[in-house]
Amino acid sequence: MRIETTSCPDCGTIIAANVLESERTLKCPGLGCGRVHRFTDLSADVQRHYEANHDRYQME
Ligand SMILES: [Zn+2]
Repeated sequence: MRIETTSCPDCGTIIAANVLESERTLKCPGLGCGRVHRFTDLSADVQRHYEANHDRYQME
């Protein structure tokens, strides 16, 4: 299974794209960082990957 990550441009915290996919928006977990990350901030390629494989990411 492919796990994509993205990093916050403000604080550099690594964020798992599958969390963004399920939450759609996510307040940055970085300390003191108020940035809000959105699934739509991910590259179109990564968005397509998660939309196409949505079910595979629901099994925890
Ligand atoms: Zn941040």
